[in-house]
Amino acid sequence: MRAVPLIILLFLTVPVPAAANTGTGWLARSLAGSVSTRDAMSSVRAFDFAASTSGGNREAGTPGFEKSRAHVEQVLERAGYRVTEQSVPFRAFTADTESLTTDEGRALVLMAQYGLAADVEGTIARAADAGCAPADYPPGTAIAVAPSGVCTTAGKTVAAQAAGVRALVVYDVTPALDAVIRRQAAGAVLPVAFTSVREAESLSGHGVLRLSGHTVDSTTVNVFAETAGGRADHVVMAGAHLDSGADGPGINDNATSVSALLETAVRLAPHQHRVPNKVRFAFWGAEELINIGSTHYVATRTQQELAAIRLYLNWELIASPNFVRFVVDGDDSDHPGTGAPAGPPGSGTVEAVLSQGYRLQRLPFRTADLADIRSDQEPFARAGIPVGGAFGGVRGIKTPEEAAVFGGTAGQPYDPCYHQPCDDLSNVHVGALGEAMRAMAWAVGWFAVDDTLSSGGEVAAVDYPH
Ligand SMILES: [Zn+2]
Repeated sequence: MRAVPLIILLFLTVPVPAAANTGTGWLARSLAGSVSTRDAMSSVRAFDFAASTSGGNREAGTPGFEKSRAHVEQVLERAGYRVTEQSVPFRAFTADTESLTTDEGRALVLMAQYGLAADVEGTIARAADAGCAPADYPPGTAIAVAPSGVCTTAGKTVAAQAAGVRALVVYDVTPALDAVIRRQAAGAVLPVAFTSVREAESLSGHGVLRLSGHTVDSTTVNVFAETAGGRADHVVMAGAHLDSGADGPGINDNATSVSALLETAVRLAPHQHRVPNKVRFAFWGAEELINIGSTHYVATRTQQELAAIRLYLNWELIASPNFVRFVVDGDDSDHPGTGAPAGPPGSGTVEAVLSQGYRLQRLPFRTADLADIRSDQEPFARAGIPVGGAFGGVRGIKTPEEAAVFGGTAGQPYDPCYHQPCDDLSNVHVGALGEAMRAMAWAVGWFAVDDTLSSGGEVAAVDYPH
């Protein structure tokens, strides 16, 4: 664990009056004031242990995921919830061979998930520019090296193939020089591997690239717990994904959010028989294979069940070590005219309530475009359900202005260990976790009592409690 002091911060609100169980904010105040960073961190450690005793990850379909599922269910059941599971079919991918040898030695490469196999020997050369046009590839190249961005990876493979290239190695342009992040390359017409900036810089001459993998049809689960009380036609959902990616323990992504959501559920449990609205907690399977669990859940609801879901709150990477407190810009009010998509009507109110959860702690935050967070809110938004959420930043680079406001290091990624083996306990900012959890608890408590949403494009004015 890195040297972040574990300080249990007191929630900065006006003291709760004796007759506090009245007024819209009573439950929000109670939850935000009672969630414990120490208890959430004990779950974070349980997930880290699940990964470290299961080959280093908690991917869907693996023992690490099963141990994570068992921990979530045990915590929820001990708190007094009835836990349910939904079976989710998915196609698992395992890379079997990943090697690139050159005259210099061996380079670290990761095969694209579900990608084409490769057994290619020949000249390695770098693409000019982004590798989006055939002319970017030098004649005679067998294995081309190109930066990510400008066009899709699939688009690069089409251009490369037209130039006679037989396999593509892609790297992210990032100051985290050793980061290697495995992704999918949907629609690619050539074998694709990913590597780091540092490795890419050394690639030249003659090389042999071998990639192979296999898929297995499998099942994973979504885990749910909901309040015993509350109107069945007024459901407030809050979720986070339970699985990690294939290449690391997935602690900031997303054990931190799951742990904070668990702790919020535990503190809500004593009130579960008298909440006006039903609160449903969701712990999604196979998000890392692109929202498979949440998409399956939405697709298997009846129209009536979907209509009962008033809103969906999502949490991702809430404790990024170089964090910014991001709140989803639900109504696009902060980026008008950029063409960034807004959430369905009502999402502005979700943003306003979540923002209030930070304001009450006297903490600065920033809004982020909905499209910047590719996660489990997407199928809900597509179904027209108002969405919102918070995250601590992923692969974006912290600006000097953000560093002045939030601390941390300008010019470096928010989470330098995203989807890598180093996303372990040392990749957690404990203070950021506690702050995001209190904002989460505030929003869950608020909507459990009052799920009134403004249907217009404006952020609803939410009265401060007193
Ligand atoms: Zn995630």
